[in-house]
Amino acid sequence: MNAMPASPIGTSSIFGDADGAGVWSRCLDAAIEAFNSGSLGIAAAVVDPGMAIVSLGRNRMDEIPDDPLSIRGSSVSHAETNAIHGLGRRSLGDYELSLYTTVEPCPMCVGAIGMSRIRRVVAASRDPHAGSLDLLESSGYLRSKGITTEEPGGAIERVFFGIHYLSIKRLPHIAPDHRIFAAFRTRYGGLMEEIDDRLGTVPLATLRLTYEAIDRLFGP
Ligand SMILES: [Zn+2]
Repeated sequence: MNAMPASPIGTSSIFGDADGAGVWSRCLDAAIEAFNSGSLGIAAAVVDPGMAIVSLGRNRMDEIPDDPLSIRGSSVSHAETNAIHGLGRRSLGDYELSLYTTVEPCPMCVGAIGMSRIRRVVAASRDPHAGSLDLLESSGYLRSKGITTEEPGGAIERVFFGIHYLSIKRLPHIAPDHRIFAAFRTRYGGLMEEIDDRLGTVPLATLRLTYEAIDRLFGP
């Protein structure tokens, strides 16, 4: 498994008894850690058929961390590339693996999934701006891999879209009229307004995610 520091905040019960709740809880901890480290709050776990996590990755775009096994500090430092990279040679030899990711993968990560032996993708939330799961059908090469996709919806979608939304909103170079928000609104307009209301006047630059903050901002 990719080296990950133990979460300082314990185990969340926010996903109740949803399918894969244990995996999503680990992803939540990694997404919180990513957000609080200044990166995008996105995490991904590679899971074996027994639902054991064999590699956990998170976004590390805005970090120069000390973990030599992670991909960090660049535009390719996505959660999925880190989770797949953490598999090492196992990414080449096992057709039974699933990837759980908190946000729909971008074109690069869909490609990286296709080049690994992951054959099932479970995406917690959609990314109407960069999400590219449609490539699994539109690319003949990727279609030949037979990769299936699932979306859990519900609280899992709400929480992980919320963390992603605030990560993007926090970026200093992304203005409020950036096209990414128009794309997000095509699916999540109501939820974005609700989150903005709950956030109130709290400055994003100083927001630190905790389970309490997750509940307050994205809870039912
Ligand atoms: Zn990506």
